[in-house]
Order: sequence, then structure tokens, then C-alpha cells
Amino acid sequence: MELVEVAPDVFACLQRDEGLGTSNSGLVRRGGGLVVDSFWDLPSTRRLRDLYASVAPDAPARLLNTHHNGDHCWGNQVFAEAGAEILGHRLCPEYLLAEGPPELFVALAESDEVPPGLADLVAALRRFDFRGITLTPPTTLFDGDAVLDLDGTPVELLYVGPAHTAGDMAVWLPDEGVLFTGDVLFHRCTPIGWEGTFAGWIAALERLAALEPQVVVPGHGPLADVSGLLGLRDYLAYVRGEARQHHEAGRTVLEAAERIELGPYAGWNEPERLVFQVDRAYRELDGEPWDTKVDLVAVIGTMAQLRAEWAAREGVS
Ligand SMILES: [Zn+2]
Repeated sequence: MELVEVAPDVFACLQRDEGLGTSNSGLVRRGGGLVVDSFWDLPSTRRLRDLYASVAPDAPARLLNTHHNGDHCWGNQVFAEAGAEILGHRLCPEYLLAEGPPELFVALAESDEVPPGLADLVAALRRFDFRGITLTPPTTLFDGDAVLDLDGTPVELLYVGPAHTAGDMAVWLPDEGVLFTGDVLFHRCTPIGWEGTFAGWIAALERLAALEPQVVVPGHGPLADVSGLLGLRDYLAYVRGEARQHHEAGRTVLEAAERIELGPYAGWNEPERLVFQVDRAYRELDGEPWDTKVDLVAVIGTMAQLRAEWAAREGVS
């Protein structure tokens, strides 16, 4: 992980995107210190805490979770034990407590018999150590936008969900021009989406782009700018349009994904996550509500089939 000072007293901690769970975090070194997101396990969050301590010796007073996913929240206790107040959207705690639990991931990672179709997931989980985690949800909750005053530095908390998840919040520092998006932006890596709609996610990206940030710290991937936000918007709009045609033609999610030409998006990490988007499009077209739970086992299985199909095509060409 790499610590970058993106503006005076504003830091991004970037993890190279290596697939599931390699997320980013942020620190605003003012007003007692505000951390934006912890990491997925305790060892990586302790390294994050130590990196922040190297530039801000006092333990941060606050930590905001941009959304409920474990790779942004499961390390919360490392900061909470040092006295940090945990902040988040009103929906964050219930979704956070419903995910996992960490003990299941420990068991999966240690299992000798990996369920069929879950091999890729288990391989990703094995890169982390989920032992010792006590889920520590936010206790200071927001229903919509809010503003924090960090010793005169305004920090705007923007509710932009449901987009990637039900409770997406972005963190905007207007004076510094720095935006932390959480997973509303995956940059140069293919997004995963949970609760939300295409329209909501696209509107969120356009709202954030309209802020004209100088520096955008995405939830996953390297630092970005406005073009990164609009690039993901274009990807989502493209995939939704393609999926609609295949849905009308009666094709399955896998058949649709096999037929979608990724063009410039093929170079984003984990392009097979396209299946998440096609699956969401199909759910929308079928009239299912935005908070329908993703059938993760089915989606992961379809992703594995899609990758096998792509590999077979490469072998032929
Ligand atoms: Zn994430």
C-alpha cells in the first residue's frame, strides 16, 4: 500500500488493485483526523493505521465508512479501539451486519474442499486473514448529505446511493478539490454492484463529476479525475444498453455477456465482472426491486464460465 499526500493535510492510501478486496482509504489530517474507510482484514488495517500514524501521530478522532462492504469496514475496530467515532449512512449498519460473517470467510479460506464454482472467490479470500474481526458498524449515522467542520475545513458527506450499494456516501473537500468516492468509482478495474440501479449509479457519477474535483480517490484502482468518473458512467450506460437487447432476444445472462464487445473496457482489471452489470440489468428489466439480493454464487459461477469462454476463444484465434 502506498500513502500519497493529494493536497495539504489530505492523504490517500492506495492498494494496487489485485482483485477482490484491494480497496483504498483516505485521511484528512485536520480537526482531530478523519479516516475514510478501513480495510478488509486486521493485518492490512493495522498497516494502514501505522502509515497514517507516520504523518499524523495522534489517533484519528473519526472514521467514515463510505458504504457497508467488508473491504471498507471490517478493519473498523482497529481505529475504534483507539477511540475513533465511526460514521456512516443510516443503512450501513444493517447491511454490514448481514454480510459475511468473517467466520464464514475464515472457514472458506481454510477449507480443503472448495465448493464448485467458488474456486476463484476462495483464492481471493486466501490473500486475506479474516481472523479476529469484530464487526464494528458506524454509530453516528446520516440520512442524507451532511457537513463536518474540521477546524475550519469543511468536509461534505454526500449521500449518492443507492448506486453501488444502498448507503453510498462520498467525501468532498471543496477547498482542496479532493473527492473520495468509495466504490461509486472503480477506476481502471471493472465494477461490482450490489444494491442499486443503473440510473442511480449514473446519476451519482454525474453529480460527483459536476463538482469538478482536482483529485478523485476511487474505492478501487489508482487516483483518477473527472474523466474517470465519466468513463465509468459511459461503461454502465453501454452495458445497460447492450444487456437490454440481449434480454429482449431472450438470452441468458451468460449468453448476453459472451456477446458484449468490451472494446476499451477489456483492459480494465477483472473484465468478467461484466456479469454483475448484466445481472443487474436483467433484474431491472424483470421489474425486480433495486435492493434484491445479488445471487453471488450464481454470478461468480457465470463469471467463471465467461472467463473460460474467453480463454477458449483466445486459444482458437
Ligand atoms: Zn470495495
